Amino acid sequence: KPMRYAVVGLGSYAVNQIMPQFANSAHSKLTALVSGTPAKLEKYGALYGIPRSHRYSYATYDSIRNNPDIDAVYVVLPNNMHAEYSIRASQAGKHVMCEKPMSVSSAEAEAMIAAAHKAGRKLMIGYRSQFEQYNRHGIDVVKQGVLGPVRLITAQTGFNASPNQWRLEKAMAGGGSLMDIGIYSLQAARYLAGEEPVAVTAMESTDRHDPRFREVEDRIDFLLRFPSGAIANCVSSYSSGHNNWRVTGTKGWLGMEPATGYDGHRMWLNKDWKTQEVLLPAGHPNQWVGQLDELALSVAQGREPIASGQEGLRDMRLVEAIYQSAREGRTVQLT
Ligand code: NAD
Repeated sequence: KPMRYAVVGLGSYAVNQIMPQFANSAHSKLTALVSGTPAKLEKYGALYGIPRSHRYSYATYDSIRNNPDIDAVYVVLPNNMHAEYSIRASQAGKHVMCEKPMSVSSAEAEAMIAAAHKAGRKLMIGYRSQFEQYNRHGIDVVKQGVLGPVRLITAQTGFNASPNQWRLEKAMAGGGSLMDIGIYSLQAARYLAGEEPVAVTAMESTDRHDPRFREVEDRIDFLLRFPSGAIANCVSSYSSGHNNWRVTGTKGWLGMEPATGYDGHRMWLNKDWKTQEVLLPAGHPNQWVGQLDELALSVAQGREPIASGQEGLRDMRLVEAIYQSAREGRTVQLT
């Protein structure tokens, strides 16, 4: 039985990336839409064959509880709305898939986990890269010890942000580049290291005269120290394009560029002073299908999903520690 999703928030990512992927999925189906804009409900309702009875506004959102054709809600709203709409979905008895960043604070993330737990439903975060085949291969290569013990991870993510968007408003975005794109560097560092950091040091560089950065940070670079002694050196930027990671062990390195894009991923392995491109067979399922179906499979198999709410909470706590370190100009120990 497929996981039947209601998508909440018909913005650019929902409409252009997520909704078209249901057609490619064996375990996930789009059965309802939630939007504040009637014209979007009309347009996408017609496009995806969603009957009027399964189209909701924010005012009627809570009545999804009475719709047995909805198993899960996919929250694709601005960051400051993630917690509220996820919690209301849990309270309506639905599983939740919530876009990254999970929330705008660790306190909100904890409340989301508590609500899902109370409802006895799953909570998963839209960390699509964890379902992308090259990134998965990278995790396996490190685990298998091909590179020897990991000494250094570099992860850089960023883009030159266009002005006048909610991402540049602190109240809606929760923060700047780190919340939006740097979180991919943080994710990569953690899933490649396969362990949790014990200390973080961060430095922010923001031109406050740039009208884009009146409220949120542009650049924030951070170091993570892991228990094994491995260090991750990460870039998060809203003024320059970056999308790569490299993990270096005692015996070689493995790297990707782009690492977390929508497509075109490339990977290289360096061993014995030689570098070769790693080519994997065309990816079926793709990262979105893998992500959507993971929620269905976790329910069917009675286990926590990969990229669970706990995983999102860990990142939110680290995001707060990174901001704290930059603000206070010191290393923050994580206990
Ligand atoms: P967007 O601005 O295109 O879409 C946001 C949607 O929320 C719009 O349809 C807007 O109408 C709606 N909305 C409802 N109430 C709103 C309000 N009060 N103010 C503003 N908008 C309101 O943004 P997006 O790029 O689709 O991002 C949505 C979420 O998806 C974000 O959390 C973002 O981080 C995430 N995202 C994830 C990826 C990914 O690769 N995983 C990519 C893009 C975006």
